[in-house]
Amino acid sequence: MAMYKCFKCGKRISHIVLKKTKGKCSYCDSRIFYKTRSVVAKVKAV
Ligand SMILES: [Zn+2]
Repeated sequence: MAMYKCFKCGKRISHIVLKKTKGKCSYCDSRIFYKTRSVVAKVKAV
């Protein structure tokens, strides 16, 4: 399941919620999101 993080308020929102809200944050109505993993991302040195 894809998770998105709101650029503005930092809340994590699932793609299911984004579908319902037509791509808007349900907290602050922002349309800008980071794509995240459900697990907290660990930066891996390449
Ligand atoms: Zn937001």
